[in-house]
Amino acid sequence: MVQACSYFEDLKSAYIFPVIEKKVAQLEKEHPNQKVLNLGIGDVGLPLAPLIAGAIQEAVKEMAERPIGYGPGEGLSFLRKTIHEHEYARFGIEEDEIFISSGAGPDCATILGLFDPNAVVAMADPTYPAYRDATIMSGRKIHYIPVTETDHFCMRPQKEAVDLVYICTPSNPTGVALTQTHLEEWVAWAKHHKAILLIDNVYNCFVTSDDVPDSIYAVEGADEVAIEMRSFSKSAGFTGLRCGYSVVPKRLHLPMLHDNWNRMVNILTNGVAYPIQKGAQACYTDEGKQQLKEQIAVYQASAKRLRSALENAGQIVYGGVNSPYLFLKGANGETSWELFDELLERARLVTVPGSGFGPCGEGFVRLSSFISETVANEAADALHHFFTTG
Ligand code: PLP
Repeated sequence: MVQACSYFEDLKSAYIFPVIEKKVAQLEKEHPNQKVLNLGIGDVGLPLAPLIAGAIQEAVKEMAERPIGYGPGEGLSFLRKTIHEHEYARFGIEEDEIFISSGAGPDCATILGLFDPNAVVAMADPTYPAYRDATIMSGRKIHYIPVTETDHFCMRPQKEAVDLVYICTPSNPTGVALTQTHLEEWVAWAKHHKAILLIDNVYNCFVTSDDVPDSIYAVEGADEVAIEMRSFSKSAGFTGLRCGYSVVPKRLHLPMLHDNWNRMVNILTNGVAYPIQKGAQACYTDEGKQQLKEQIAVYQASAKRLRSALENAGQIVYGGVNSPYLFLKGANGETSWELFDELLERARLVTVPGSGFGPCGEGFVRLSSFISETVANEAADALHHFFTTG
């Protein structure tokens, strides 16, 4: 008799976002006239840049004039070529090592299909929950690497050998980005253990520090041990459009992974929609780059505003420099949920409890700066007031 897949039973049941929504809805019901500011969501807060919207519309018009059907599962060559020229040629990565997808989220999950079913998968605690769920759903064993204040929330290699390591840099949820030195350490560790690093680099466009490279391939020899995943979701507001890409080098110490991924994406997908790939290509035109730079600058300014309000109020906060996320510590040893509740009830601010990303996130909340300047100013004032009036 057929059985349902039992891995579902191992997934954590109460995902935090429904709980947050319930608490916010309750507060809004009790205080209908009070404004609540949402620093919880990691979704984009600005409309699509006009040049990109225009490119998508043009592509749809083109499709109304001539038949444009299936594209290759690995992505249309115009987009692979453009990404190659602008992002990866300088690292010696080849055009056919770039695979277009419907986003980094799906790639983070499906990439596991390249590896032995017994491969042990490491990830940070606290972690972006999709790595955990994808690993559970693949039936593989998880090894958590505690990432704490002791290391300023920098994920460092451990002595233990594991096969695969998800590394989110800049990190969701902590907002901390690994430096060139940290990444060199990881590459050396992976070479030594013959492991593969799965680099989730979706927030690369937020990097501002000189010592943080915007790609793992800035590290010598990384193409032997690292697969990098990126997305247009956060850099260009594509969360509702869906387009990303993964780099699977041919020089990996398991060279068959490149051809196998090519095979796999062609089995799993018949490609990303033509207008969406055209929109992604438009991100690299001079005007597109300028419009996106202006959008990112809004989020970066919001992060800076929130961070300085918290620092001025004497709080301990991580991230917000190379990332749209800030990780705020409760000043009086509160749990994440206690801090969340206090901020919601007294400051009318929605955050995300750090404990929802893993036990090492306990005592922190995540704040997102995917907000407009106006909301950032209001939230910064509310935070300052909250922490200075007791
Ligand atoms: N990886 C991280 C770390 C994220 O925070 C997100 C979205 O919030 C994703 C992946 C999903 O990216 P995409 O929209 O490209 O699927």
